Amino acid sequence: MSDTLFIDGVWRAAASGATREIRCPADGSLVGVVAEAGPADTEAAIAAARAAFDDGPWRQTGAAERGDLLLRVATEIDTRREEFVRAETLDTGKRPYESDLDMTDIANCFRYFGKLAADDAGRVVDAGSPDVDSRIVYEPVGVCGLITPWNYPLLQAAWKIAPALAAGNTFVLKPAELTPHTSILIMRVLDDLGLPSGVANLVLGAGADAGAPLSAHPDVDLVSFTGGLATGRIIAGEAAATVKKVALELGGKNPNVIFADACDTDDRLAASVDNALNAAFLHSGQVCSAGARLVIEESAHDRFVDELVRRAEQIRLGRPFDEGTETGPLISSAHRDKVHAYVEQARAEGAVIRTGGAFGTGDHGSGSLDDGWFYLPTVIDGARRTMACVHDEAFGPTVTVETFADEAEAVAIANDTEYGLAGAVWSSDAARARRIAARLRHGTVWVNDFGPYLPQAEWGGFGRSGVGRELGPSGLAEYREPKHVYENLRPGVTDWFTDRGGNR
Ligand code: NAD
Repeated sequence: MSDTLFIDGVWRAAASGATREIRCPADGSLVGVVAEAGPADTEAAIAAARAAFDDGPWRQTGAAERGDLLLRVATEIDTRREEFVRAETLDTGKRPYESDLDMTDIANCFRYFGKLAADDAGRVVDAGSPDVDSRIVYEPVGVCGLITPWNYPLLQAAWKIAPALAAGNTFVLKPAELTPHTSILIMRVLDDLGLPSGVANLVLGAGADAGAPLSAHPDVDLVSFTGGLATGRIIAGEAAATVKKVALELGGKNPNVIFADACDTDDRLAASVDNALNAAFLHSGQVCSAGARLVIEESAHDRFVDELVRRAEQIRLGRPFDEGTETGPLISSAHRDKVHAYVEQARAEGAVIRTGGAFGTGDHGSGSLDDGWFYLPTVIDGARRTMACVHDEAFGPTVTVETFADEAEAVAIANDTEYGLAGAVWSSDAARARRIAARLRHGTVWVNDFGPYLPQAEWGGFGRSGVGRELGPSGLAEYREPKHVYENLRPGVTDWFTDRGGNR
């Protein structure tokens, strides 16, 4: 099946005829063969999106009707959930249970923006005169280029597709080349629901070929990108020539700050360690907001880290459909090598690898890991702020451990990052927890928790974690142009320039 590009309402092969094999990272099995687009395909998709925006019916469709379509998308995801879950699981290697949770969040994202679409039609501005009607109306930005990563393939796409459609835009989606299948499925849903041709377009393929035109092309009005910092820089640079709007959701190196009073009883220790484990090792650490930087009060270091290591060693790696699997593989061989190089660098810098630090191979409780890209949960103790391992994003199952003596040092360490996506503080002293939370320079701060996000709440980063916000009302605002309409109800002579007579 290589007719997997969706351009102007038609399923097509790549113009060059090129294809790509998609393989499950857990065992290398063939998941599918999809079209591999090149720049010509993306340019065709941009042209379709441009024509659909400029001349098609979509942007004139009422906001309530657009919202209604999004609500129906949510229902379709629920109806076809098994198919979506299986596709996401095979592409990423994550457990079906996790893919299923993603689908719930994705459906809820479509519901949220479906309801928000018609909520805010603009506002009246007091121009200071009864003879003036001044108002702000929201219009769609135009053609949107949407570029997404492989870790949460459909979730990241949904955060862009839903608000883009709610606002009346047309778009070209370029998902990560390794995980295309749920993007194909969502386009089938949009097609089945009767979205006008050219409104939603899909190109699949490598970033530098299929993705690049979306940031450089003059007919694209906005590029919204989720992925790594290095790619984000390239995209922002290429977008600059046409001064298009840019939204960037980039990486993170997220501190999880634990005070001793969050682990001074058996119950508190169990809760804070358990959450630190999830923060670091959920989806094998391939999470932009992973708590990959543990920052613990000195006096609690030994008992906390001993317990973290004990728990990390029990995590059961495995293939997604095997019973007992708790987390899956890394996305690719190249990515696993990158994670391992990061750990080796930490070792060379003098950090102590308390557990892990090696590929997951052999029989690990649920079958052989040898054909997949597994990496052992890794605890890197004795890390210091000068080390690369505490600043660089590994995007794998690794957590560095640093210690602090007091509140000021905790805040200084937690904010010592070029990123600023997310962070957490754990303390049983509510006043202290709030004090620290107020000082953290991160887009999301959790207090005595790690990880939850809500479609109603903005998501995005301070610093080099990005530009703009997804989700929440700001997530819709990214896809709207506010327009000021100033209407003079009693036009007359202004006398600014003097009429000195003469012939008319
Ligand atoms: P990546 O930057 O390698 O790729 C992301 C997407 O960009 C892919 O679709 C890729 O094909 C495309 N791309 C690559 N080069 C391109 C170019 N020159 N022009 C246009 N498109 C191009 O990132 P990844 O490895 O897929 O994802 C991991 C990264 O994503 C991590 O850094 C992670 O922190 C980040 N991420 C951030 C968030 C967030 O919400 N902030 C969420 C998920 C992932």
